[in-house]
Amino acid sequence: ARKYVLVNYFVDQPKPTDLKLMEEELPPLQDGEYLVEAEFFSVDPYMRIYVQNLPLGITMIGGQVAKIIESKNPDFPVGKRIVGYLGWRTHTILNPNIHQSFSEQKPYLLPDIGDLPSSLGLGMLGMPGNTAYFGLLEICKPKSGETIVISGAAGAVGSHVGQIAKILGLNVIGICGSDEKCKWLTEEMGFDFAINYKTMPVAAKLREVAPQGVDCYFDNVGGDIAGTVIYQMNLFGRVALCGSISSYNADTKSLPKSTILQPAILLNQLKMEGFIARRWLNRWNEGIMQNLQWIREGKLHYRETVTKGFENMFDAFIGMLHGDNTGKAIVQV
Ligand code: NDP
Repeated sequence: ARKYVLVNYFVDQPKPTDLKLMEEELPPLQDGEYLVEAEFFSVDPYMRIYVQNLPLGITMIGGQVAKIIESKNPDFPVGKRIVGYLGWRTHTILNPNIHQSFSEQKPYLLPDIGDLPSSLGLGMLGMPGNTAYFGLLEICKPKSGETIVISGAAGAVGSHVGQIAKILGLNVIGICGSDEKCKWLTEEMGFDFAINYKTMPVAAKLREVAPQGVDCYFDNVGGDIAGTVIYQMNLFGRVALCGSISSYNADTKSLPKSTILQPAILLNQLKMEGFIARRWLNRWNEGIMQNLQWIREGKLHYRETVTKGFENMFDAFIGMLHGDNTGKAIVQV
């Protein structure tokens, strides 16, 4: 097996030398075990901050879709695929009775998705897809006719949230980092408006495209963008606090924590709730099945930005943090 080991904690931007590519001999399989070979890796924003609390020397964390290539466990036959948080490693021996991951979610068999690409198990039919599904429905509790703003709108979670919001009959406004992404959101993903936060004044543009105010805010980025949107929300608006990527590369201990949001939250009696998708682990399959149905009905469209080669994991990771991806960032082995 080849694997990336964390040798230094990330400081500001992660550096290639923070990880070391190593080889590992795997032992023969014992009864009950099976061996998987990674086909697709996910690179996700959480990796940037989550590893900081784990010990140096661990395999770099992350999810993968892997094919079972050898098995001494009839529940996990050769040829099937699993989705699991196995880290950045090409081959892994798994034993269902032993918990081997940084995540509380155990590896599971990829559901039958027909001729759709198995990489969707890391995107729309996996963790980001369920983040969009449960975060929007359970935290924003959107109603038809309302206006929702989504930041990080052209990414895996954001582009998915916007499409579900359209299915539910909302007015959908996305905020993202390039004109190409804005064009994609409005022309292909069905968003009503998109705002490029790098070139447009977000507050003024938002007043222009949402004169009726904002009822739901699905926040993927935090920081100034969040402050701007929250000050344009309507009475009893709901904020789903999903992520705050604008601060992930920052030393949060030295950042000012004083953006004053309280007047906006108080006067408009907003409800703001942080959530982590695994809150709905007991309904995981429901999310996958609903998203699968919407894809099959042509109501949900997916896009992946695929980097080829395990040796390019780091570049794909840092590229995603910098906004190189449209839709889900994936590495194909
Ligand atoms: P994305 O596919 O959205 O990729 C990250 C994107 O973030 C980039 O493409 C970039 O797009 C944008 N970005 C980077 N830096 C900044 C910045 N300073 N300000 C604004 N945008 C920035 O990733 P995901 O869809 O996987 O994740 C989106 C968010 O959701 C993250 O915050 C993540 O942590 C969170 N998340 C939370 C989960 C939960 O359970 N709560 C589960 C999964 C994800 P651009 O070109 O627009 O800048």
